[in-house]
Amino acid sequence: MPRSDRLFVDGRWLTSADDRFIPVENPATEEVIARVPHGSADDVDRAVDAARRAFPGWAATPVAERARFVAALRHGLASRQEEVARTITAEMGAPTKLAMTVQSGLPLQVLSSFVDLAGSIDQTESVGNSLVLHEPVGVVAAITPWNYPLHQSIAKIAPALLAGCTVVHKPSEIAPLSACILAEVIEGIGLPAGVYNLVSGSGEVVGEALAVHPDVDMVSFTGSTRAGRRVSTLASDTVKRVALELGGKSANVILDDADLDGAVKVGLANCFMNSGQTCTAWTRMLVPASRHDEIVDTVTATAAGYTVGDPSDPRTRLGPLASRAQRERVETYLGRGVDEGARIVSGGPHADGLPDRGYYVAPTVFVDVDPDATIAQEEIFGPVLSIIRYQDEDEAVRIANNSRYGLAGAVWSADRERAIGVARRLRTGQVDINGARFNPSAPFGGYKQSGNGRELGRHGLEEFLLVKSLQLP
Ligand code: NDP
Repeated sequence: MPRSDRLFVDGRWLTSADDRFIPVENPATEEVIARVPHGSADDVDRAVDAARRAFPGWAATPVAERARFVAALRHGLASRQEEVARTITAEMGAPTKLAMTVQSGLPLQVLSSFVDLAGSIDQTESVGNSLVLHEPVGVVAAITPWNYPLHQSIAKIAPALLAGCTVVHKPSEIAPLSACILAEVIEGIGLPAGVYNLVSGSGEVVGEALAVHPDVDMVSFTGSTRAGRRVSTLASDTVKRVALELGGKSANVILDDADLDGAVKVGLANCFMNSGQTCTAWTRMLVPASRHDEIVDTVTATAAGYTVGDPSDPRTRLGPLASRAQRERVETYLGRGVDEGARIVSGGPHADGLPDRGYYVAPTVFVDVDPDATIAQEEIFGPVLSIIRYQDEDEAVRIANNSRYGLAGAVWSADRERAIGVARRLRTGQVDINGARFNPSAPFGGYKQSGNGRELGRHGLEEFLLVKSLQLP
């Protein structure tokens, strides 16, 4: 386990002004494995002050030099990848394979992609008699969640540092330990003091203190729509830039000419990945009435093959949910689904075969789900799929867009152009056609209440830049 009992502020490991600690629990064993400081508003003041003082020097550091630090960060995390993966498995329950490939592997790809983009920052543009420049936003508060703790941190911190911003990072209190490894690596590469600061603690105390702080120029937030709304409200007093990456209720639209086996196999894997705790999860499977029964049979057979259990066992496909509160939330939704008339064909609240200890929920499939039902509208954040039937393409699009969210989605068809046509009609930030792979350089973010920011690639870098026009004689 990394060092976790201190804050990392101004290049040093400090004790918090608050003498309380937050226990970190392993959701598979229910044992406390570490504790992190219960950061206070005073700690936030110290960290923001350090970041503010470091800002002019870091902003003036040549981009190539900043890119060298980002590359060194990648190297440092890569050399500790197995430890990062083990730590994330222990703190939030991601199975070993997922912890290696996505939880600890994806951040490395994202770091590389940002190093490659360094050249774009200094590029200027001429507009008539004006020269348009890019400059860093300033001090950035990065507030991150527990479901992909390192990836969501790197998706903010790498572009912020490259852009010339300084950072105060508040990780989730549920899964804060990969951020401690990150801080150790940052210390090891000799990043100037104050450029990156880590303040653990609760959202209500540390998160809110960052959102209102007059010396924070931008909040980059990933998490629930509820907390994102609160951050936006608090930040509005000081008119700071706010980038929100929030929840989703994404539709997997299977058209009548699709390869059903592929659509079901990939669709379930996407929905159940990370025990369903993924903001982009395709939690609504939209199926043509003409092929409904066939699809339900394939889904039921495929779902039965998912092994649930100890996340450190390499054979496990689904680990526990990240916390007791999360399991309770998901179980409440399972009850709600049944109460509102949907039928469970796989898993459910009374499924057999789950470990006695740990916050497990069986992968669950509902059929006969009304598109307006609670389980079809709210983000459950557990391994729960709702199958919804539609009559024709127009109705499929209507149901897919019948959501206050708009983060992701999928379309499957034997006819690529037909699939792209439907994808264009979906009001979401990204759509995968026929199971195409994730692209860590493509813009990522939501429409509607899924957020207002874009992360990753050039668009993600631009979030941390301001534009300035110089009018030339
Ligand atoms: P939160 O949105 O509460 O947590 C995300 C981050 O925001 C954490 O660091 C949290 O701090 C912080 N935070 C919480 N409240 C505030 C606040 N008032 N001001 C500033 N920061 C705050 O997620 P939960 O853990 O409560 O999860 C609840 C639901 O959110 C899930 O069931 C899921 O639906 C959704 N969710 C969506 C995510 C996504 O990627 N879209 C990620 C995580 C959750 P802390 O928790 O440490 O107190």
